Amino acid sequence: MMAARAALERRAQVTLVDADGHHGFLPRLATVAAGVGPVSDADAPLAELLPGVTLVTDEVAGIDHHARALATADGRGIEWDTLVLAAGAQATAPSIPGLADHAWTLRTPDDARRLRALVPTAESLVVVGAGSTGTQLAGEVAAAHPHVQVHLLEMADRILPSLPDNMADRAHHVLVDRRVAIRTGVSLDRVGPEGADLDDGTTVPGLVVWTGGYASNGNVLLPDAPTTDGRIVVDRCARVSGHRRVLAAGDIAAHRGPGGRLLPQTAQVAVRAGRLAGANAARIADGLRPRAGRLRHIGWVLPLGDGQAVAQVGPLPLADPVTGRLAPLLHDAIDVRHLLTVGGLPAAVRHHQEFVSLP
Ligand SMILES: Cc1cc2nc3c(=O)[nH]c(=O)nc-3n(C[C@H](O)[C@H](O)[C@H](O)COP(=O)(O)OP(=O)(O)OC[C@H]3O[C@@H](n4cnc5c(N)ncnc54)[C@H](O)[C@@H]3O)c2cc1C
Repeated sequence: MMAARAALERRAQVTLVDADGHHGFLPRLATVAAGVGPVSDADAPLAELLPGVTLVTDEVAGIDHHARALATADGRGIEWDTLVLAAGAQATAPSIPGLADHAWTLRTPDDARRLRALVPTAESLVVVGAGSTGTQLAGEVAAAHPHVQVHLLEMADRILPSLPDNMADRAHHVLVDRRVAIRTGVSLDRVGPEGADLDDGTTVPGLVVWTGGYASNGNVLLPDAPTTDGRIVVDRCARVSGHRRVLAAGDIAAHRGPGGRLLPQTAQVAVRAGRLAGANAARIADGLRPRAGRLRHIGWVLPLGDGQAVAQVGPLPLADPVTGRLAPLLHDAIDVRHLLTVGGLPAAVRHHQEFVSLP
C-alpha cells in the first residue's frame, strides 16, 4: 500500500493486485483475536484507502519478467513497466502430524476473526511459539478472558527468544501474574482435536494456535530471484538483484540496515521500504535512476493486553515496572500515526477511543 501511494505521488499509473482487497493491520490482530476493540481494527478496504489506484482483487499466480506481465489465479493477464513485489510472509506449516487439520494460526485478519469467535468458549488456549505474536496473543487473551487457561509453549529456553533479555523477563513476569502457564524447552510432536502432544510425552488440552513461524514466498513468485531465508535479495534502491525493473519491499524482501545488517520483518521497516520501492518504481518507469534509501529498525514495542506492554527504543529499554508504563502509550501512538498515514484523520479519529489505552 505504501509503495502504491508513493508511486501515485509521482503521478504513476498504479495497478494494485491484492489477494483479498484489504489492508491488513497485523499489529492489531492479537487484540482483535482476543475480542478487545472493534473487529474493524483488523483491516480496511484498499479501495477506500487508495483512491486513484486500479485495484485488482486476485492472487498473483505467476510472473514473466521477460514479457513484463503477470498472471493471476483467475486467469487475468496484467502488463507492467515496473513491478513491486510486496506479498509479505505466511505462517509456516511444518510437517507436524495434525498441525494443518487441528491448529489455528494468527497471520491474517480472517485468522483473527476466527479466533475471536472461538476463544470466549474455550476452556483452555494452547499457544505454540512464544515469539512476538504468540506472547502478545497469550497476554491479550489472559487479560480479556480470565476464565480461559492460557498455555504458552516455546522450544527455546525462554520466551521472546529473538528479543532483548529485559523485554523477555518483563513479559514473562506479566504473563505469569495473569496465570499463563509458560513452558520453555518443549516442542510440538502432534496436534489432535483435544490439544497438543509435546516431545516430553505430555499432552496440553485446549484450542491450539500455531505461532511458531512465518516465511516469505519470494521464490514462489519469482523463482530465479536470489533469496535469504525465503526473502528476496534487494539492493539499497529496493531493486531485486539481477532485475532492473522489479523491486521488492516489506517482509518478502531481505532489506539491510546500517552495517549491512539484515533487518527484521516488521511494519516499521515495511512502511519505509514500501515508500522507497514505490518511488523508485515510478522513477524507473520515467527513465530516471532509482535512489538509494536508508532503512533501519529503531526498536520493539510489544503490547501484552490490559494497558501493559514492553518496549526497547534504540538502546533504551522500557521494560521495568516504571518505564514500562510508557510502552503501551508508545504502541498507541505508533498505531494512530499509521492510521493517519493510511486512512487520514477520519480513520485515526474513528479509532481513537480504542487506541488510547492508559496503563
Ligand atoms: C500478529 C502480528 C503482529 C505484528 N505486530 C507488529 C508490531 O507490533 N510492530 C511491527 O513493526 N510489526 C509487527 N508485525 C509485522 C508486520 O505486520 C509486518 O512486518 C508487515 O505487515 C509487513 O508488511 P508487508 O506489506 O510486507 O506484508 P503484509 O502486511 O503481510 O501484506 C502482504 C499483502 O500481500 C497479499 N498477498 C500475499 N500473497 C499474494 C499473492 N500471491 N497475490 C496477491 N496478493 C498477495 C496479502 O493478502 C497481503 O494483503 C506483526 C505481524 C503479525 C503477523
